[in-house]
This record gives sequence, C-alpha cells and structure tokens, in this order.
Amino acid sequence: MLTINENFIKIPETYLFSEIARRVNQHKAENPDAEIIRMGIGDVTLPLPEASIEAIISAANEQGKSETFRGYGPEQGYDFLRNTIVENDYKSRGIDIKPDEIYVSDGAKSDTGNIGDIFDISNKVAITDPSYPVYIDTNAMAGRAGEPNSNNQWNNIVYIPCNEENSFIPQLPTEKVDIIYLCYPNNPTGTTLTKDQLAVWVKYATENQAVILFDAAYEAYISEENVPHSIYEIEGAKEVAIEFRSFSKTAGFTGTRCGYTIVPKTLFGFTKDGEKISLNKLWLRRQTTKFNGTPYIIQRAAEATYSTKGKEQVKSLVEYYMQNAKIIRTSLEKIGLKVFGGVNAPYIWAKTPNGETSWEYFDYLLKEKNIVCTPGAGFGTSGEGYVRFSAFGNREKTIEAMARISK
Ligand code: PLP
Repeated sequence: MLTINENFIKIPETYLFSEIARRVNQHKAENPDAEIIRMGIGDVTLPLPEASIEAIISAANEQGKSETFRGYGPEQGYDFLRNTIVENDYKSRGIDIKPDEIYVSDGAKSDTGNIGDIFDISNKVAITDPSYPVYIDTNAMAGRAGEPNSNNQWNNIVYIPCNEENSFIPQLPTEKVDIIYLCYPNNPTGTTLTKDQLAVWVKYATENQAVILFDAAYEAYISEENVPHSIYEIEGAKEVAIEFRSFSKTAGFTGTRCGYTIVPKTLFGFTKDGEKISLNKLWLRRQTTKFNGTPYIIQRAAEATYSTKGKEQVKSLVEYYMQNAKIIRTSLEKIGLKVFGGVNAPYIWAKTPNGETSWEYFDYLLKEKNIVCTPGAGFGTSGEGYVRFSAFGNREKTIEAMARISK
C-alpha cells in the first residue's frame, strides 16, 4: 500500500490567497457592478524593463541558430550572470562574494522552500511572526515543524513576534534555535532592521552555531541609509548566513522567474558526529541533482537589469511603486490608522481601527469600499489586528482606492 507524507495533510487547507479569492468572488457574484481594486496579493503590475525585453529577443535569436544554440546550462547559473551579480550587488558595497557562492535559480520562493533539504529535521527553527508563509509550510512538509496546535501554530517552531509593542524588532529567542528565518525589508510588515539590530542576530547565530536564512527579496526598495542591503554587510555574517535575492520585485520578474541564493564557502554545518561540512557543497549537490538551471534566455534578461539602461529602468519601476506606497501611507494616516512600513518596502502594514480583527476589517473594506487588502492574520498569529496593503498596483487605482477609504 502506498503511504503518503502525512505532514502535507497537517497543513491547513485554505491557503491565505485562496480564501481571499473566495470572499472576493462571492462579493462579485452578489455585486456584479462593483469595481473592485486589488491591493492584496503582492504581484507587480508594470511590464518588464525594456532592457530585459531586448535581451530576451536577442537570446531567443541565439537559440534559433545552430552556432549559438545552448542546451542544458550549468545548474548553478551562467558565469555571465554570476559575475554581473558579484560586481553590481556585492563588490559595489564592499562585500567579497565569489561567483561560485552564487546559485542562480527560478526565484526566491523555490530556494527559501528547498533550502530545508540540506538540514536535518531535528533542527529547531525560529521564524519571525508574521511571516511569508513559505517558511513555515515548507518546514511543516518536511516534518520539522512538529504538530499544529489549536492556536494555529506548530509546536516545534519558535515564533518570534514582531508587532507594534516591540516596534517590529525581533527579540532573541529564549530557547536555543538552529535555523533562523529573517526577511528584511519584511513581507508582510514592510519594516526593516538597522545594521546594529541585524548584527544582534549574526552574533546569536555565531555563538549558537546556527544558520540565518536571510530573505532579501525586497532589497531594491531600501531608501534609508542605515538599512543593510545584504546581511553580509554585517561582520561575521559570511560564516552564519545564506542570502536569498529575487528579480521578481526588483525588475518585474514575477512571471519571468529568476532569483539567486548566496551560500558562502565559509559557512558550515555539522554531522551528528560533529564533522564540519560545507553548506555550499551540500547546496551544489542538491541543485545539480534536483534543479536543471534557469533558462538561458531568462538569465540574459536578468543580466540586462544591470546594464546602464537596465538600472535606470529598474530604478523607475521601484520609484513608481514607492510613490504608490507614499500615497497609501499618507492617506491611511490621515484617516487615523496607525501604519508601518512603506518607506523601504512596497508594503504598508496598518493596524485595524477599533480593535477589529484582520478579517473583519478585510470584509469591511471589501463590502463597503470594494477594496481588497490582505488580512494580517493570514501571515501568522502576530499579524492579527493588522492588514497589509500592497503598493504594486496601478497609480490611478491606488489614488482611487485611497479616495474611497478617505470618504
Ligand atoms: N520572499 C518573500 C518575502 C516574498 O514576499 C516573495 C514573493 O512574494 C518571495 C520570496 C518569492 O519571490 P520569487 O518570485 O522570487 O519566488
């Protein structure tokens, strides 16, 4: 008899965005004329940078000629892209990352989800709460999260609450943990850590032989000085951290798919007998076995985002969304909501008024204003009492949504 991985059936059925879709569809069915503005799901709306389109066309033409055709590529990514990443994302910030510490992938979702393959299930995992759901769900699938409890939490995960009371600064866990997920700028709260605040975690990981899985998918949105763009700006981080990056939110690649992960060669884990093993080697083994590389055409498109023209186009995409963020922030503040984020991130995290729950305020906005946001509770227990607005929408619709809310 075929038995299944029962961890999968322990995970709650309704994924956040499918429940939102269900409520929106019901509202639409009851109000067919309603003009709904979506500020929920974090997908981008502007097209790819022109530089990437040109690179795609040129690479497609190369694939059409036998002299330039390429079949299977290196699973870790082509050198042209790895070298470009080294120069532009790291060397330019004084960080020494080698091309063979970079693994090009089809995005940060796969990598943040798959990275667990190289860690034993006995490791204790700490995750900031609220969080991007992939961290918890993939640990649950692997059996590392333990059992779900009545509080909608897992008994083997150490939750690190980030809320108004602690100014969204995660506090060190009181019990020893081995794997720590940090995401900055943060999805969903839009908040950041300063270098000193991040250094506290690097020190903890160093002292406890733990690893930090640092998700920097929103790095391009950082505008303030003292916010680190990479965890490797912190001394000692190359010995304790893996960093995930993505072209999705930087350059509109959500449907085009490209990201990369840094696994420094100075990073080690241990066997049960205490033997020191390179995580870079393990990830190389994992990727070359289970992943066949990001398409050549797409890697050329990603490379083009670093050209002079590409950089200008990426900058204007980011500025467009951040202008939306400013509009959302100021409008919500004007109606008296407490808001966080939206300065170094395209998300605005708003406290619901009058102690309403996340879903109550979600329903109010949907039914009364025809606006879709994301209920904070969907990102974890500490997200209760908040909602997330995304700045990835179209400008006119963002302005219209804020006008409706302000009425
Ligand atoms: N990490 C965070 C925090 C995200 O919010 C997202 C997407 O929303 C991802 C990773 C996934 O990025 P990608 O499109 O590169 O898979």
